[in-house]
Amino acid sequence: MNFYDSDKIHDLLFFHGYEKTNILDDANLIVLNTCHIREKASEKLFSDLGRIKKLKDQKKITIAVTGCVAQAEGKKIIDRAPYVDLITGPQAFHRLPEMLRDLSQGIKVTPELEFLTNDKFDNLRYSKRITGPTAFVSIQEGCDKFCTFCVVPYTRGAEFSRSISEIKEEVISLTEIGVCEITLLGQNVNSWHGVDALGKERGLAYLILEIAKIKKIKRIRYTTSHPLDMDQDLILAHKEISKLMPYLHLPIQSGSDKILKLMNRKHSSKQYIKIIEKIRNVNPDIALSGDFIVGFPGETQSDFIDTLELVKNVGYAQSYSFKYSSRPGTPASVLESQVPENIKKTRLSELQNLLFSQQRRFNSQFLDKEVEVLIEKYGERNSQVMGRSEYMQAVYMDQSLGSIGDIKKVKISCVGQNSLKV
Ligand code: SAH
Ligand code: SF4
Repeated sequence: MNFYDSDKIHDLLFFHGYEKTNILDDANLIVLNTCHIREKASEKLFSDLGRIKKLKDQKKITIAVTGCVAQAEGKKIIDRAPYVDLITGPQAFHRLPEMLRDLSQGIKVTPELEFLTNDKFDNLRYSKRITGPTAFVSIQEGCDKFCTFCVVPYTRGAEFSRSISEIKEEVISLTEIGVCEITLLGQNVNSWHGVDALGKERGLAYLILEIAKIKKIKRIRYTTSHPLDMDQDLILAHKEISKLMPYLHLPIQSGSDKILKLMNRKHSSKQYIKIIEKIRNVNPDIALSGDFIVGFPGETQSDFIDTLELVKNVGYAQSYSFKYSSRPGTPASVLESQVPENIKKTRLSELQNLLFSQQRRFNSQFLDKEVEVLIEKYGERNSQVMGRSEYMQAVYMDQSLGSIGDIKKVKISCVGQNSLKV
């Protein structure tokens, strides 16, 4: 989501006369688009600001802080870094050009921390400067689920779904600049809902079907889903819509029902497994991915073993796993029995050993097999291009085998944990 927002900020400023530079010293304006999900991400802002301050002491630059740290800690930023000129939350960054204009005219600019989600999307419509065959399209933002560890409901605000026509308009405009793969984005993407032309309430499966009708779109993905919103239509879509890629990111966080309850996830591990079974019944081929948190307050060794068991039971092709990070203002941050850091560290490494071995096993099935790859960009090595398989694996191959934007069938000769090679 932050990558998407950063691109949008870039486009917005481009249309207001700014040009991107990768050299910090050349910048007149520095925008730090921030993440508040874990402490490490959040702390990064202040260390970056320290470096940028030195630059500001030498020349005239404008510093803007946008995103979720700005939303949650706007006041702290003003206190700790009074040299920051502009502050906006993630649902108000479309106001940046206006704020920059006020600043240049000597008008006092106050932090913009309102949730102006509707207004934001209206203002971002015209921007389309993506170069490459893949693009994100945000269809849903915010969250009403209030998991006890998570800042999203506070920083991104209440759930908001964009309209079908607006989303289709954005997708079609992206196809006009060469995009053929769309990833639909949302903090709870499968809670998306909208009203069709006949006034009927629709869910994500319908939206995917509508997007699949756009001829130039060849591949569709969506992320991140919540197990509670995995309805039957969406499960069936994985069989019925061929453009929907066989990959599903479905976080569970923990395999222990006691912890799931403390997390306020509103489902059990059994219910999660049941969803996985239903999905595999309609599409046995699907690659599964998940998010995990170790060391949530009150997690015992036995709870942790439940997570390991669940992972063994499901078998993941990819995963994201984190040590629990206490976030200010969340209910879990004030729970007693916080787990010591060294235990979190040991558990994370044990869990990752298992998850990474599953990832290697998943990838090794593709040795000497053909996979279909959408070539996305040039690789780091000379004459190499990089693309993604239908299952989201990174695939590297020689440029002679295809150009950026091509979908090619290629034979895999080398497999690793994080990528495949032709
Ligand atoms: N809406 C999605 C997840 C969005 S946040 C869902 O409910 O599954 C992305 C991931 O960040 C989460 O799945 C979780 O694994 C991780 N995360 C969020 N808050 C965290 C915290 N306080 N500590 C550690 N990891 C966290
Ligand atoms: Fe955060 Fe996801 Fe829970 Fe919402 S559902 S509170 S985004 S972890």
